[in-house]
Amino acid sequence: MSLETVREECHEQLKQLGRTRESLKLIAVSKLQPIEKIRRLHSAGHNIFAENYVQEALLKQDTLKDLDIEWHFIGTLQKNKVKMVVGKFVLVHSVDSFELARAISNYAEKIKTTQKVLIQVNLAQEITKGGFDGESLLKVWSEITALPGIEITGLMTMPPLTDDPEDVRPYFRQLRELQTELLKQGAGRHPLHELSMGTSHDYHVAIEEGATIVRLGTILFGERPRKN
Ligand SMILES: *Cc1c(COP(=O)(O)O)cnc(C)c1O
Repeated sequence: MSLETVREECHEQLKQLGRTRESLKLIAVSKLQPIEKIRRLHSAGHNIFAENYVQEALLKQDTLKDLDIEWHFIGTLQKNKVKMVVGKFVLVHSVDSFELARAISNYAEKIKTTQKVLIQVNLAQEITKGGFDGESLLKVWSEITALPGIEITGLMTMPPLTDDPEDVRPYFRQLRELQTELLKQGAGRHPLHELSMGTSHDYHVAIEEGATIVRLGTILFGERPRKN
């Protein structure tokens, strides 16, 4: 679908939900996509892109440094690569453990920056995917919000792949409920207003359930080349 069409559909949906256009951010997921496609989407008027693999992301940032792009990191992040990521991405969506949060916090302090992050929640408790389950996030919440060097702007989830997008609605709803619960516990200086949920397959359902960020790859770029 063209960027224009996706935007218009989202705007229409937001209007019906009584939400403003500004209450939703579209992020183009460019992992494994060639540079020319990113340039093309950028010329069409899009400037927020997200990457999953550290090396690939840094190479793309360098190649595209002539463009005004807001880069996000959404991939699994190993602790030994924290140094390559902190300060280089506007938002890291994939903080999936307390240890990772602490590593980001430590390094951000060291380079005197504050890294905006989302906490990744794994609601279906899939072992193949990282992320906190709701219970354990609630347990470490006071410790994680006390870490300096990070600003927790919200939560992110990546539900199981299903044929019917309706199947993942409960997960999106649970993420919103978890946000409410955490805000009740108290988020201190952390805004916690973002809900990053919804991909090409299920973003309309996610928007209905209160997504403030949707992460769209295939629908904007076409099929992804395989990772080799
Ligand atoms: C790849 C990816 C997406 C985009 O998926 P599409 O189905 O191509 O829209 C979104 N979020 C994460 C975390 C991803 O890894």
